[in-house]
Amino acid sequence: MTEKTESNLGPRVLLKLLREVMAKTLGAQERLDEIVSHIASSMTAEVCSVYALRSDNVLELFATEGLNSSAVHEAILNVGQGLVGTIAATAKTLNLENAKNHPAFAFIPETGEEKYKSFLGVPILRSGRAIGVLVVQNMVERLYHEVEIEALETTAMVLAELIAAGQLEGLDKKGTGLDLTRAIKLSGSSLADGIGIGQVVLHQPRVVVTNLFNEDEVYEKQRLDEALGNIRISIDDMLGHDNVAREGEHRDVLEAYRMFANDRGWVRRMKDAIVNGLTAEAAVEKVQSDNRARMMRQSDPYMRERLHDFDDLAYRLLRELVGKDGESDKEPPANCIVVARNMGAAELLDYNGPSLRGLILEEGSPSSHVVIVARALGIPVIGQTVEAVSLAESGNRIIVDGQEGVIYIRPTDDTLTSYREKVALLEKRQEVYAKLRDEPAVSKDGQTVELLMNAGLLMDLPNIEITGADGIGLFRTELQFMVASRFPRPGEQETLYRDVLDGAGDKPVTFRTLDIGGDKVLPYLRSEQEENPALGWRAVRLSLDRPGLIKSQVRALLRAAGNRDLRLMIPMVTETREIYKVREIIDGEIELLKKFDHAIPNTLNLGTMIEVPALLFQLDELMEAVDFVSVGSNDLFQFMAASDRGNARIARRFDPLSRSFLRVLHKIIVAGKEYNTPVTLCGELASRPISALALFGLGYRSVSMTSAAIGPVKATLLETNISVLEKKLLAEIAKPAGGQTIREFLIDFADANAIPY
Ligand code: PEP
Ligand code: MG
Repeated sequence: MTEKTESNLGPRVLLKLLREVMAKTLGAQERLDEIVSHIASSMTAEVCSVYALRSDNVLELFATEGLNSSAVHEAILNVGQGLVGTIAATAKTLNLENAKNHPAFAFIPETGEEKYKSFLGVPILRSGRAIGVLVVQNMVERLYHEVEIEALETTAMVLAELIAAGQLEGLDKKGTGLDLTRAIKLSGSSLADGIGIGQVVLHQPRVVVTNLFNEDEVYEKQRLDEALGNIRISIDDMLGHDNVAREGEHRDVLEAYRMFANDRGWVRRMKDAIVNGLTAEAAVEKVQSDNRARMMRQSDPYMRERLHDFDDLAYRLLRELVGKDGESDKEPPANCIVVARNMGAAELLDYNGPSLRGLILEEGSPSSHVVIVARALGIPVIGQTVEAVSLAESGNRIIVDGQEGVIYIRPTDDTLTSYREKVALLEKRQEVYAKLRDEPAVSKDGQTVELLMNAGLLMDLPNIEITGADGIGLFRTELQFMVASRFPRPGEQETLYRDVLDGAGDKPVTFRTLDIGGDKVLPYLRSEQEENPALGWRAVRLSLDRPGLIKSQVRALLRAAGNRDLRLMIPMVTETREIYKVREIIDGEIELLKKFDHAIPNTLNLGTMIEVPALLFQLDELMEAVDFVSVGSNDLFQFMAASDRGNARIARRFDPLSRSFLRVLHKIIVAGKEYNTPVTLCGELASRPISALALFGLGYRSVSMTSAAIGPVKATLLETNISVLEKKLLAEIAKPAGGQTIREFLIDFADANAIPY
């Protein structure tokens, strides 16, 4: 390895020179030319070149000292092509004694670079992604010194800021703009339906580091130490709190933060960057960017997670150093689409308002709490969108398509136009549904169907009014527990139930007792890892083992419904014995209330969900044991078809509109009629017009669905002659499988009778 040469001025001096260049009033090209010339002379390199990544994913030579000047804006490379393309593709530095010996070497004749042997290239990083490449070359064969690599990487930061600030726009040969203006389509998984068009709001906005160059190294190190000290104290404080919410996973995260905040390697790298001439905040940003680049290359999920922790910590550190006057304090734009790696449910509520149009998460799953809240807010959500946070810039135009599970960052005008048309069409349809709001839900042949909605949070309540739903057919009480950081207190539960009953007025509400476990996890409820959580310790099973939990919930429900009617429903019942046990608990609570002269409900209706196939073979007993039943078609189908409802791979493999499943649904209706026990259905099946049509044909006269489906399902109902459909459908499902599927039959029926679906 060659030692530093005499004329190598060191990074501090170089940064000082660059600061002067940045302060001058110069054209963009001139500024860039001066920068490469300073870097070359400071590093005693014969060549210094800058390549910028264009929006068409091609690297273009933007400036050079040493190579043929005629090659500027002419020499181009694809990402992955040659040494420069390799650096851009991997976001990794290349330090080569002789460039020609590298397998990726590709010779670009117009540059005249053949005479240079040694090569040092570093990525110009923005949030861990390469948006350009900075190269120095020398004629002699030599490996560049660690100090030189550090200097070049630090200098690359200055160029990253130039590019990010849009100062090089308009210089590229094709005039198509640089990478940061590129239109990007990303696929993810759709977690909530709908389409949103708006502007990016980064949940963790990049802290804008405007002050790159330091005046006083000692002072900057002191600032860094102070900020680190404050962060360590705040983490210790959080860990010190005697709070159940800090147990389990939360605690692990904080412990990891504490470990990283004390990580010597991390702190040393930031201090090195200060020694090289950066301010404390620029040093944090530089190390964070390197770290992100590593994170993106990392496939081991554990390591990725740890690097994410570092990222979060660096973000806190930046906030500490720059203060709160970054872009995060700006008012969110009129149509805001929040982009985050992940976030808590309560944090989303902070954005809630008429301007919130969508949510994009790099993580997120259908049952995560923030997604549940987003659905209640009626905004589209896409999850599992890898790199969304680093590709999107605050203020960018963005489209969230919850129907297809894709997002468009900086969409082209064509894409935007076609989406605007799509949204206009959806809005027109909504207007039609809004007009149906006060129409009675009666079929063409005069049969009334009760159209109920599903809910779980107070914010769902206004939807009764908006949609004209007949009531709430399923109130998922677990949601209150899922969005909280500890068990909601009995008083809090009672208040919610009372508010729900008040909000529903004289319309009926069916409360379901806690359905936790399975995919509905409470972070504060310690439970063992289960091999098959969907088949595990969940819902009524958990309630009966922890009677304290259900007793306090039942008490809250009884108190809230004092002098009113109360409808209660038990989830995941497998045997009628479980219903009797719950009834015993309810009776005990009623006795207690009476004893203390509390008002009790005027009427109490107790029902169960039919979700476990075992119940299908004890329907006689079941119908006698309860006041009503509600088919949970999501779970019933998952267990009937033995296919995990949350597994995207098999989610569409089997159709619930199959003969076997519809025969089961019909069997339940027949049993209900025989015992005069009301039957309803509250799974997703009721939310799609075509499957709702099947339910009408099977004899269902009460269905409960997501509130957004009330309008479309009512539109279908109004045009359906149920008695005609019923005869045909029952004949169809009695046939052996083969030939036309039931779905095809239903679509044909709807088309032939001009039924919208
Ligand atoms: C169901 O299983 O169909 C149901 C309505 O309950 P959940 O979706 O809450 O499991
Ligand atoms: Mg269920």
